[in-house]
Amino acid sequence: MSAPHAIVIVGAGQAGGCAAKTLRDEGFAGRITLIGLEPHPPYERPPLSKRVLAGAATVESCRLFKPDAFAALNLDFRPGARATRIDRAARAVHLESGESVAYDKLILATGGEARRLPVPGGDGPRVHYLRTLDESLAIRSALGPGRRLAVVGGGWIGLEVAATARKSGAAVTVLEALDRVCVRAVPPSVSDFLRALHERNGVAIRTNCGVKAIDDRGAGGLRLALGDGTALDADAVVVGIGLVPQVSLAREAGLEVGDGVLVDERCRTSDPDILVAGDCANMPLACLGRRVRLESWANAQNQAIAAAKSALGQDVRYDELPWFWSDQYDANVQILGLPARWPEPIVRGDRDGASFSLFYLDDDRIVAVVSVNAPRDLRAARRPMQVRKTVRAVDLADPATNLAKL
Ligand SMILES: Cc1cc2nc3c(=O)[nH]c(=O)nc-3n(C[C@H](O)[C@H](O)[C@H](O)COP(=O)(O)OP(=O)(O)OC[C@H]3O[C@@H](n4cnc5c(N)ncnc54)[C@H](O)[C@@H]3O)c2cc1C
Repeated sequence: MSAPHAIVIVGAGQAGGCAAKTLRDEGFAGRITLIGLEPHPPYERPPLSKRVLAGAATVESCRLFKPDAFAALNLDFRPGARATRIDRAARAVHLESGESVAYDKLILATGGEARRLPVPGGDGPRVHYLRTLDESLAIRSALGPGRRLAVVGGGWIGLEVAATARKSGAAVTVLEALDRVCVRAVPPSVSDFLRALHERNGVAIRTNCGVKAIDDRGAGGLRLALGDGTALDADAVVVGIGLVPQVSLAREAGLEVGDGVLVDERCRTSDPDILVAGDCANMPLACLGRRVRLESWANAQNQAIAAAKSALGQDVRYDELPWFWSDQYDANVQILGLPARWPEPIVRGDRDGASFSLFYLDDDRIVAVVSVNAPRDLRAARRPMQVRKTVRAVDLADPATNLAKL
């Protein structure tokens, strides 16, 4: 295989930015074109529902690179540019401007878009979605003492927005259509923990409660018609009901697409010159024994590093354990692993206290850890999980055991 001279990256988010940096770190001296729809250089999204939303961190603080470091990457950076088509035969990406950019290797890092609430009024001006920096700043101006915020969706983003809004003094109601919060990400006991955490902090959580319509009554505020026949008044709504992976470029180019763009463990699509990383990639992970599409900061970073190395012809096999964290009030929640089912956990620490960890075992091996304010427990479990070492439940539960020695 001849070495690439021109690499195009579509999507200037976290994965796109990390891929560009990795290419330079690995000594690639050719042209890197980074095409991004947003007007900003690459930035990290986790602060958008936390410190940036709270007004406690500046916009600059979430940039992936300081201005000097970004300039040193020597990229052909195209902010505010949409890639509209991939011409695989000509190996070129077409932009909305009419221009086309040739590639030897193409990395798609197009992430996804916030799923829209498909009800009347779901696209009104006071109904917010949260994926981008600009959206975070718009929501920030709707928070504050005395404001009434309805959060539709009790997933991670909904709960983080609820926590930040509550801290701003807003009155917050979370509406979750299913019977518990964070259904897709955590077992029932952790959902219960999160619900109790929010209720202690004054958030009203209504489960089994969908939204049928949002009526914008001007100065009278918003009125949400709920599935149970009741209504809820609010000054603003934030919808956090999931992400739709951005796969249209790949699909229209004839690449294999399912829930995300299908890639192998080297981030390669069905066209070996096109690689994918981040929230839009669907990859087989040997450590899980199945394909997954992940939406997490760590995956966006590490998969992008793998995609960049793979584009340079290096023999990479991506197989990182899924890792995710969330900050809500004074709770730092971390999850390592993504089991297909959640067995009864081994509890370490006081489950009703401020700090504890839950270990999920299968055949005496740790398959997942959820820790609350106990990041060290989770870090200690990573290695035994990776090498599938057997452990004893009694050791995990005993606070006297030094987990680092496992
Ligand atoms: C509010 C929020 C809070 C989060 N908090 C956490 C957290 O606490 N912990 C955690 O682990 N993860 C968190 N995440 C998830 C994490 O931020 C994402 O997994 C990560 O940003 C994914 O990176 P990405 O590069 O794949 O996608 P993105 O960051 O979405 O970047 C994709 C970029 O591609 C651009 N693009 C798409 N299509 C085109 C096109 N055709 N042409 C040009 N550009 C295009 C998009 O505009 C976008 O800028 C959070 C996410 C959000 C939104």
